[in-house]
Amino acid sequence: MQLEAQLAPYAALAATSRGRHHVEERSMARGEFQRDRDRVIHCTAFRRLEYKTQVFVNHEGDLFRTRLTHSIEVAQLGRSIARHLRLNEDLVEAISLAHDLGHTPFGHAGQDALNECMREYGGFEHNLQSLRVVDVLEERYGAFDGLNLTFETREGILKHCAEDVARTLGDVGERFLDHTQPSLEAQIANLADEIAYNNHDVDDGLRSGLITLDQLVEVPLFRRHFDEADRLYPQASERRRINETVRRMINALVLDLVAHSQANIAAAAPASIAEVRGGPQMIAYSESARLESLVLKRFLRDNLYQHYLVQRMSTKGRRIIRELFRSFMEDARLLPPQYQAKAEADRARAVADYISGMTDRYAMREHRRLFTVEET
Ligand code: MG
Repeated sequence: MQLEAQLAPYAALAATSRGRHHVEERSMARGEFQRDRDRVIHCTAFRRLEYKTQVFVNHEGDLFRTRLTHSIEVAQLGRSIARHLRLNEDLVEAISLAHDLGHTPFGHAGQDALNECMREYGGFEHNLQSLRVVDVLEERYGAFDGLNLTFETREGILKHCAEDVARTLGDVGERFLDHTQPSLEAQIANLADEIAYNNHDVDDGLRSGLITLDQLVEVPLFRRHFDEADRLYPQASERRRINETVRRMINALVLDLVAHSQANIAAAAPASIAEVRGGPQMIAYSESARLESLVLKRFLRDNLYQHYLVQRMSTKGRRIIRELFRSFMEDARLLPPQYQAKAEADRARAVADYISGMTDRYAMREHRRLFTVEET
């Protein structure tokens, strides 16, 4: 366990935590954020991340990232950055591992389709759903719903939120109304997420053949590090040079983020987490790294996420989500019994909870069960 006395005074500390909804005795063996992390790892939604899409649908290949491996990469990057800055690694890890728990099957296409279906019923947003998973949907305790995580972990999970929704969320909604910042640990998890997906999508994109080296060398951030790998290891296989490049890009972005954030923190000189919340955003890239990272992001959007083969899969995913939603809304008796009970109170929300909890393959199987006569 990281000793809190060794952390910076503006780190999130158990001693100054805003606590849990349901008061629990402190553990002698584990810190409060460590307990949050452990609760996330043991929850059902966490195990489902293994079979949820990041960009490629789970059955498309064994080597592509899933939401589970993505979340582990985010936690690894986040911990490294937090350690550099003497911030709370356990909190960053808890937030990172939980940040995608509310994702639907079929990635962003799935979330867009479900949001569309839910338009008249309050909408659907995966980030808000991650909070709903840890606050309400997990059923692991006798005394309460959800995982009863600390305020700081929940604050970090809720990355963005519209004001009308924020008004309904109590403590974690406040910062979207008074426009204050979350902890530095939450800010780190947010940027670690971006570093992770930009770089692993380069890797997976090349591996899948949907984007090529010839295209990527047009992206300055990639080009610089690829040239360096080429110069150092001209005899190495292309795969090794690509791995060297991705490794160097991640390292460069992390080091830039650490250095620039360190300078921001020094300039703002917060004395406590309360002053962090009242200050500017301090975890940030330098302007040049931010722009380079943006160019990479746009490249991936235009060439990978919009690739016609990715679009075809997305369209199939959206269709599955829409058809499942329509079936369950027309006849709640098609829902598994535990969701039928919930549907009595709010059918649309119960259906959205059921569908968003599905893995890619479970959604495909459920779709076949409902629409194919031969399927058992
Ligand atoms: Mg993510």
